[in-house]
Amino acid sequence: MAIHVPRLFTDHHLGIGNNVILSGKTAHHIQHVLREKLGNPLILFDGLGGEYTCTIISIGRREVEVNINGHDPANRESALNITLGIAILKREAMNTAVRQAAELGVTSIIPVETDNTSVTRVQFGKRRENWLRVIQSACEQSGRTMLPTLHEVVAFDQWIELAKGDLKLLASPLAGTGIKCIVSVPKSISLLIGPEGGISGSEEQRALDAGFVPVSLGSRILRAETAPIALLSIMQYRWGDF
Ligand code: SAM
Repeated sequence: MAIHVPRLFTDHHLGIGNNVILSGKTAHHIQHVLREKLGNPLILFDGLGGEYTCTIISIGRREVEVNINGHDPANRESALNITLGIAILKREAMNTAVRQAAELGVTSIIPVETDNTSVTRVQFGKRRENWLRVIQSACEQSGRTMLPTLHEVVAFDQWIELAKGDLKLLASPLAGTGIKCIVSVPKSISLLIGPEGGISGSEEQRALDAGFVPVSLGSRILRAETAPIALLSIMQYRWGDF
């Protein structure tokens, strides 16, 4: 039976032969959640590509030291480049959307402030830190070696300007057509998902003027955190690595 080796993200510089001291939440997790012992193996990755095999060489009160003994240039990234622009949702909903977008292989995530965003600007900083941790944990679990980029929060019109790609999609319950009507084969996509209260009429018009194609997900209204999961899955199936 294969032994499950824990896989953890670190922002340390990793290289074969180096010893790395892990502290804070990572050390706590290794000692008190995973209950790892001296000599046990770990896999570390730094989000820049590949992963490193390590052995625990010392365990202190607040620190765990590992020796890096191997590098695996594993690449589990989809060739499809997806930028997800997502309106800032309520706490749990946004965590779900960010976690599952990372699992589903998005390249970058841009939180967007829209007319119907109910979060104040001062709350963004703290929430961004949390979204980063959610992304790291989703990548630990899913085996991703590259971390999706998490951009700063942008205003709706900045998002419209930033959005690039072979295809720009706007998830809109009002759209007359679904994603199956797209016949091109994009290599890069920008996708916009609206907030719980929806995208305002004027925002939708500005997105259309900027070249976004509106797509519907059928006649049922999905929760704002469900819509990206549905669309990202379809995209990976049609143009990515599903
Ligand atoms: N009353 C809002 C409206 O009509 O737009 C509902 C918003 S919905 C809860 C949140 C977001 O999820 C929408 O802005 C859209 O981006 C996406 N969404 C939900 N259901 C959808 C559907 N059936 N088709 C396309 N997008 C959908």
